[in-house]
Amino acid sequence: MKVYKFGGASINSIDRIKNIGQIIRSEAGEKRLIVISAMGKTTNALESVITAFFDGRKDDAIKLFEQVKDNHLNTLKYLTVVNWQAAENQLKDFFTEVEWLLHDKPVRSYDYYYDQVVCCGELLSTAMMSHYLAESGIPNKWIDVRDILRTDDNFRDAAIDWAFTEKKIQETVRPLFDEYDVVITQGFIGSTDENESTTLGREGSDYTAAIFANLLPAKSVTIWKDVDAVMSADPKQYPQATIISALSFTEVIEMAYYGAQVIHPKTIKPLQNKNIPLYVKSFLDPSLPGTVISKDLPKNLPPIIVHKQNQVLIQFKSKDFSFVEDKPVEQLHELFNQVKIKPNLSQNTAISLLCCFDDHAEKIDQLAAEASLIFDVELEKNLTLLTIRHYNQEIITELTNKKQIVLEQKTPQTVQMLMR
Ligand code: ASP
Ligand code: MG
Repeated sequence: MKVYKFGGASINSIDRIKNIGQIIRSEAGEKRLIVISAMGKTTNALESVITAFFDGRKDDAIKLFEQVKDNHLNTLKYLTVVNWQAAENQLKDFFTEVEWLLHDKPVRSYDYYYDQVVCCGELLSTAMMSHYLAESGIPNKWIDVRDILRTDDNFRDAAIDWAFTEKKIQETVRPLFDEYDVVITQGFIGSTDENESTTLGREGSDYTAAIFANLLPAKSVTIWKDVDAVMSADPKQYPQATIISALSFTEVIEMAYYGAQVIHPKTIKPLQNKNIPLYVKSFLDPSLPGTVISKDLPKNLPPIIVHKQNQVLIQFKSKDFSFVEDKPVEQLHELFNQVKIKPNLSQNTAISLLCCFDDHAEKIDQLAAEASLIFDVELEKNLTLLTIRHYNQEIITELTNKKQIVLEQKTPQTVQMLMR
C-alpha cells in the first residue's frame, strides 16, 4: 500500500485535475490512500472569509464565500456529467455547513471559527476529485478524515491523538482496501472528540500523508509537486540550483529547520520512525525520477542553500554596559514564549544579546516594547539570513559578494550569515 499526496497547485485547473487522474490511473492495481489539499489558493480565500466574519463584516464574508462556491461549482461542471448532480449535492452540503455559521455572530475564538470554515476547502476538493475519478473509470472511496483523524482542540495547530487515530485507521480505513484500490481523503484537517473541525497548521497536508503512512502502515509516500525534485536552493533566488536525487530524513529535518520550504517539517518524524521512504515527484512530468528521502545518508551532497528574506536583527544591550546576566536572559526567553516568536539565529557578546527574527511587524513591536524595560533595544530591518549546509569557501564567496555580513555562525556542516 502506498500513500500519495497532491497539493493545491496540482489541482488548480481542469487540466491539472485531469492530469492527476492520469497519474492515479497509471499505477492501476496498486492500493493507494490519496491525501489531497484544497484547490489552488482556496485556503487563502477561506482565510479572508473568516477575517471578514470575525471583523463583523458579515456581508463581505458571505460575498467572499460565494466566490469560493462559484469557483468549485464551475470547475465541477467541466469534470462530471453522470455524477454531476450527486457531486453538486455533496458540495452544497459543505457550503450549507459554512453558511449556517456565517449567519451567526462570533462568540468563540478566531482560531475556532478559522478551523470550522477553512476545513471546507479540503472537503470540497476531495469530493470533487472523488466524483471525477469515479466518472473517469477509477472506482474509489471518499472518506471524511474528520471521522478518522482525532486531534486535541488546539485550533489551527491541533495535535494528533495517535492511539485513537490508529484504532480508527485499522478498524475503518484498512478494510476499505478489500474492496477499493483507491481511497481519497483530506489533508490538513481533523476533528476533536466533540466533532469540532480542527486544522494542523498551514501546509499540513504533507503531515496528514505521513500520519496515514505511519499508521496503515504504507510502504512509501509520494508527494506530487510542481517541481522536478527537491532542489539545492530556490531557483528563484539561485538559478544555478541543482536537483538532489537522494536525501536523508535528518538532512530534510535540518533543511526545514533552517527555513527551506521543501516539506512540512512535521512530516519526517512519522516516516522516519517506521522507516518509510518519501518520494518527491513532479506531477507535470511523472517520468522524472524526483527525490527519494530515506534513512540512507547520501554522500557528496551539493551545498544546500536557504535564503530567508525579511529578517530583523534585535540587539538587547544591558542598560549599564555591565555583563549580561542570567536573570535578564531568562526573562527575555520568557518574553519570546509570550510573544510566540523564536530567533532564527542568536549570539551572545559580553554586554549584549543579538537575535535575528522573521519580521512579523506586530510581534516585533511588542517584543521590542516589552524588552526595553529590561534592556536597551536596537533594531535593524530588511536583512537576509543565508544558510548553507555542506558549504565550501567558493560558494560562500559567491553568495556573500557585495554584501555586508552582520552576524555569522559556523559549524562543520552549516554556515549561517545575516546579511545587509
Ligand atoms: N490547504 C492547506 C494550506 O493551503 C493545507 C495544505 O495545502 O497542505 O495550507
Ligand atoms: Mg498546499
